[in-house]
Amino acid sequence: MRRRYLPVGVFGAVLVTALIAWRAASARLVQDIPVAEPIVVTKAFTSRTDRLRRNETLTHMFARHNVDGVELLQLVAAARPHGLDPRRVTTTQRFTFRYVIGEEIPNQVRTRIDDDAFLQLDRDTLGEWTGELDTIEWEVVRERVSGVIGSSLNDAIHAAIPDSILPYGQRDRLIWNVAEDVYGWVIDFYRDLRPGDGFYLLYERLTSSAGDVRYGRLLAASIETIGRANTAYVVSDDANRNVYYDAEGRSLRRAFLRYPVQFRRISGGFGRRFHPILQRYRAHLGTDYAADPGTPIFATADGVVSRAGRWGGYGTVVTIDHPKAVETRYAHMVRVTRGIRPGVRVTQGQIIGYVGMTGLATGYHVHYEFLKNGRQVDSRSVDMGDGEPVSDDMRPLFEVTRAAYDRLLAEPSHRGVVAGS
Ligand SMILES: [Zn+2]
Repeated sequence: MRRRYLPVGVFGAVLVTALIAWRAASARLVQDIPVAEPIVVTKAFTSRTDRLRRNETLTHMFARHNVDGVELLQLVAAARPHGLDPRRVTTTQRFTFRYVIGEEIPNQVRTRIDDDAFLQLDRDTLGEWTGELDTIEWEVVRERVSGVIGSSLNDAIHAAIPDSILPYGQRDRLIWNVAEDVYGWVIDFYRDLRPGDGFYLLYERLTSSAGDVRYGRLLAASIETIGRANTAYVVSDDANRNVYYDAEGRSLRRAFLRYPVQFRRISGGFGRRFHPILQRYRAHLGTDYAADPGTPIFATADGVVSRAGRWGGYGTVVTIDHPKAVETRYAHMVRVTRGIRPGVRVTQGQIIGYVGMTGLATGYHVHYEFLKNGRQVDSRSVDMGDGEPVSDDMRPLFEVTRAAYDRLLAEPSHRGVVAGS
């Protein structure tokens, strides 16, 4: 692996005074030998890290480093094509200013521009600034983790992977990748899992030359639900999308997602219940998914928007018509996504609005309804059928992939690096 170090706090130059002194002494002793003029490297650097303080703009911060006026304009012009937008710099973005010792204006500025690169700005001796990207190298390592589910898959994964392997936020990405992108169509993680069920996951972990750790993607998994192993294997399709198949090579994808939001818990199931606002028993014709205010709500399937706006007790609601006389409703939104209005075509997973508590709601949640031929049914009991089988072209690749991942999943170690690339 190639490593690139950022020169934070690195003193870049070498002093060769001792060598020069020795050469001078030799010259005096042996006068016949011509001595070339020595190249004296005396530049040494110092670095200072800075960031925007509250209510500051880049102008303020750069002024602290004696870069202002026309020079700052030129620096920004050199930085802009590489993705630095001065209006979008936040107080968390670090800038490293490198100075030649004894000079007041830095001759280099570096900042992290995104996951994959640093922006490096260099000032030449004429005071001209140029910018270039310094790409961060990511190394992919495959990791295997296994465990037993206690209260939830969420808690089990957090417990099974230490911070040193994946930090909390990256574990969350893994969890939602598993729960939504991979098994979102076939497992209801609230209802189908039981304490004692086991799981295996094989995933990619990325480490960067800048010292970051990131979750990559799920390669293969096996999650037990009520004594049944639900396996998943990734195969990348022609468009480089990750498609997941079960052990028989049937896609895990279905026409409808199991739920419309990354919820914290199900706060109300389908059926008869006491209504907290109306203070009487009545049928509850949907499922309530509690989530933080503002959490994105997505369409559970492809379809056409039939309603978007206020509608009685639903509050702000979006309804979508799907093929085969199915309709879905997403109620109590704080607002509808811009552009979502009747007649607009939406695709599965597209964000249509955000969690609120408008209409007859006592807490932040999505009230989700699934209607078949105009009648509400329990979305969590609808049979979604089998997935599409892997295509004949892809079948050989699938077979090889499955065999390789089965070997890795069967490794005896509880957790560890199983392969590198
Ligand atoms: Zn409800």
